[in-house]
Formats: sequence, C-alpha cells, structure tokens
Amino acid sequence: MTERRAELAANLAAVRDRIAAAARAAGRAPEEILLVAVSKTFPADDVVVLLELGVREFGENRDQEAAAKAGAVAAQLAGRPGPRWHFVGQVQRKKAASVASYADVVHSVDRAALADALGRGAQARAAALDVLVQVSLDPAAGPTQRAGVAPDQALELAEHVLTVPGLRLAGVMGLAPREGDPAAAFTGLARIAERLRALSPQAGVVSAGMSGDLEAAIAHGSTLVRVGTALFGGRAIRSEHGLQGPSGR
Ligand SMILES: *Cc1c(COP(=O)(O)O)cnc(C)c1O
Repeated sequence: MTERRAELAANLAAVRDRIAAAARAAGRAPEEILLVAVSKTFPADDVVVLLELGVREFGENRDQEAAAKAGAVAAQLAGRPGPRWHFVGQVQRKKAASVASYADVVHSVDRAALADALGRGAQARAAALDVLVQVSLDPAAGPTQRAGVAPDQALELAEHVLTVPGLRLAGVMGLAPREGDPAAAFTGLARIAERLRALSPQAGVVSAGMSGDLEAAIAHGSTLVRVGTALFGGRAIRSEHGLQGPSGR
C-alpha cells in the first residue's frame, strides 16, 4: 500500500467513525448519512484510491477542474463503475451546460435562471439531473453572506425547479456561516427541508456539514455531509491561475 493510500484509508476510517458517532448521538442510523468526498484541488489518483476504498460520491466546486477530473477518472477506470459527481460550488449560468454534462447532482441552485439553464443541459445529455436548492443560512447581509437563496424564497424556487424539464428536485443544501453557532443555521435549514418534503416527498436530501461542523449538522438532520480537508488533508491556496503553495504535497 502506498503512503498516500494508507493516509487516505486512515482519514476515511476516521471520518466514517465521526459520522457514525454523531448519528448515534442523535439517535439516528449511520447509514442515513451519505458521505460526499470533496476532492477539489486533489488529483484524479486520489479519487480512484477512494473509489477502491468504497467511496462512491465525490464533490467538486469549479467547472474546469471538475470536467478535467471526471474525464481523467473515467479514463483510469477503463469501464469500471465510476463515481457520482456532485457539483457543490456556485455555477455561472454560462457554465451550466458544462456542469450538467458530467455532474449527477448539483447542490447550488440558488436562482430560477440557473435551474432553467441546468435543465437544458440535462436534456441535452438525456439524463435527469438531481438538484438541491441552496439556502443562505447567514443572517448577516453583505459581503460575508454566503451563497444561496434567502430562506423565505426557498420554497418558491423549489416550486420552480419542479416545473423544469430535465431536473429532479432532491432537497436542500446549506453552508453554516463562518462565524457563530452552526446549530442555529442547521436548525433553520431543517425547517425549510421539512416544508420542501411536504411539497415534494422525494426531495429528502439535506446537504449540510463539512470537515469542521459535520457533528452539528448530523445532530440537526443532515442526510449528506460534504467532507474535503478531513479526508484529503489541507488544500493549497488557489490563485486565479491555478494552485499556489503552501501545500502539503
Ligand atoms: C470545499 C467545500 C466543502 C468541504 O470543505 P472542508 O471544510 O474541506 O471539508 C464542502 N462544501 C462546499 C460547498 C465546499 O466548497
């Protein structure tokens, strides 16, 4: 076993333990929570290793990197079953067709025009695309506000998604604010998720929780955690032109 493979295997075991412990603490079954490995900035080789270790779901947040990695992974697998790709970053409308060409799930639908563009992309690919409505959980307006539709507009956007050919409404996604108690944010998301399920019973995914806050998210109803750092290690700082140090590798 290479050193990197051993590192990824150990990190995966630790993340699975954290998910299981958080689920049990909340009186939930660990199998209720899907792990999405957020592989942004990490190479296709790491994705292939984690696939061999049993991870099926991978997340990316930049179209160019994601498209190249999906292609590189498929080439390495040479016909073996590949990952389900989750797009978790903000999508520019002009990138929607590209994202819909390889993504199986888009977590970041925050406006009707983007839903329409993704729907056209999904129809061109002739495959239904699962989408989540991203809800802004940051009560502070202004530059610190994270992406997402305002909570009081989430249901209206979900109703729109239900009318778009090519899309399947799968649930909601939220990012806790950088400051403050994530529990309040995740509780708010859970309330919206409940109303969404009343609107569309299949839309049960609650995408919440990352390396630093997955316990709080699972305690408040998350069904899907998006984990990068705790699996892959620290990321290099990105520049507009690619990656810059300092990096662990
Ligand atoms: C990068 C990213 C993650 C993973 O974050 P970590 O803190 O590294 O686990 C989760 N969700 C989104 C939307 C991301 O962009």
